[in-house]
Amino acid sequence: MSERKSIIAGNWKMHKTAVETRELVKELRAGLGSVDLKCEVIIAPPFTSLPAAIEAADGSAIRVAAQNLYWADEGAFTGEVSGGMIRDAGCGHVIVGHSERRQYFGETDSTVNQRIGAALGHDLVPIFCVGESIEEREGGRTFDVVKEQLGKGLEGVAISDSSQLVVAYEPVWCIGTGRTATPEMAEEVHAFIRGELRNKLADQVADGVRILYGGSVKSTNARELLSCRNIDGALVGGASLKAGEFLGIIDAAK
Ligand code: PEP
Repeated sequence: MSERKSIIAGNWKMHKTAVETRELVKELRAGLGSVDLKCEVIIAPPFTSLPAAIEAADGSAIRVAAQNLYWADEGAFTGEVSGGMIRDAGCGHVIVGHSERRQYFGETDSTVNQRIGAALGHDLVPIFCVGESIEEREGGRTFDVVKEQLGKGLEGVAISDSSQLVVAYEPVWCIGTGRTATPEMAEEVHAFIRGELRNKLADQVADGVRILYGGSVKSTNARELLSCRNIDGALVGGASLKAGEFLGIIDAAK
């Protein structure tokens, strides 16, 4: 099995102005110090705060991601932002298919697929989110749903290196609810995702893809989740908005 370096990523959602962004990045930098990090740290502020985040994080280990992208390179698409623009701003990653985008903005497996293709085409690493609703879990459909999301999202997508893709398993019933899947529940789905990736990609590539867990991760539950074999980090929403909490999760990734 290949060695996988953990990723702790913060999805700031629609929070933090440029001024607030600079302040939070400053606190994170101070907390991280100059020690050799054992994990990768990524933050995903809103589009308007990306320049402030990139400037404030310059020279540190903190990397900056966007929360979404549109698949066309440019054109008459009011309100959208392309992969090229995100790359140009200085980002290396982009979140794709977050459940809030699926739920509130009409994102489908097909548009997720187009976004993943566009991200890769602009040398951005998609952080590809999948996960079941509470009805789907209670109906015993978790694996079917995740399989379909993965299959359709990665259809026709060429990935030759494990560093080109990050998958985030985020059970929808755990996002922003304070409910967390038990480590056993999460690991079961992560192992399933690893198997699905092996069906689509070369074994060596599939084994190296980082699969993050997301859903009410906090400093108090992170260690247990991150100790699971196929959980290679966390995608953190609410708890990434407070430096102390986020640093506590980063610490748990050691
Ligand atoms: C998320 O937004 O990806 C997320 C996991 O949110 P939270 O940690 O707040 O549940």
